Amino acid sequence: MIEIRNLTKSYKKHTALQDVSLDIKQEMFGLLGPNGAGKTTLMRILATLLTPTKGSVRMGGIDLADAEQIRPIIGYLPQYFHLYPQLTALEFLDYVAVMKGMNRPSERREQILYLLEQVNLTDKARAKIRTFSGGMKQRLGIAQALLGDPRVLIVDEPTAGLDPEERVRFRNLLNQSSLSRTVLLSTHIVADIESSCSRVAVLSRGQVAFAGSLTELQACA
Ligand code: ADP
Ligand code: ADP
Repeated sequence: MIEIRNLTKSYKKHTALQDVSLDIKQEMFGLLGPNGAGKTTLMRILATLLTPTKGSVRMGGIDLADAEQIRPIIGYLPQYFHLYPQLTALEFLDYVAVMKGMNRPSERREQILYLLEQVNLTDKARAKIRTFSGGMKQRLGIAQALLGDPRVLIVDEPTAGLDPEERVRFRNLLNQSSLSRTVLLSTHIVADIESSCSRVAVLSRGQVAFAGSLTELQACA
């Protein structure tokens, strides 16, 4: 589903990614690595927010450079994202849906109500985001990323700051999302992917230090 070939990204003098190649199927794939390893850089390239210095990416056979074709395929939840605290969950999702080019109000409404139910926020639809807990905000983040039913969901360090109960909830939500799409999850916490991702890659100083099954990775450790 995702073919990453010889991807390099340099910021002025610093090389954040160097010659990264990976193949990701329709699965939940884990991207591990310490802070500074290049995870966010890779995810931002995959989300078309950054242009690589070298290399190429194809998703479902479409080149990442083909913005118009590729954007609707991708849903992205950045590590830090801006939620408008004065809006309700419904208003926020409607705003994002309009931004994504969903022009028909009835279509937006239907999808938003469906997604709110998926992320267990139906009873908070009309509550202001400023009243939400961290876990609720993350779940709303997943709902906005899933608007438009993208084939690829990219999630960057999602469980930072969540309590254990919210973590489990969030993990279940991602597991469910991965039944019908490719999910790419970055984290520096191995426990986040243990129960979910069968295949993982480890980034270290911008390079792929390991790519394979989680069992193999645990065998090396
Ligand atoms: P992470 O917590 O995943 O390491 P960062 O905190 O490094 O993420 O990055 C957050 C944002 O700041 C990103 O948009 C990233 O591109 C930017 N950023 C990170 N490091 C630098 C840097 N040295 N100079 C400029 N921008 C940076
Ligand atoms: P991670 O997400 O694994 O923490 P990042 O992709 O955020 O890693 O960062 C990889 C490296 O690139 C870090 O050394 C970071 O400081 C650097 N970096 C990230 N964004 C920028 C930027 N906009 N300008 C300069 N350096 C950056």
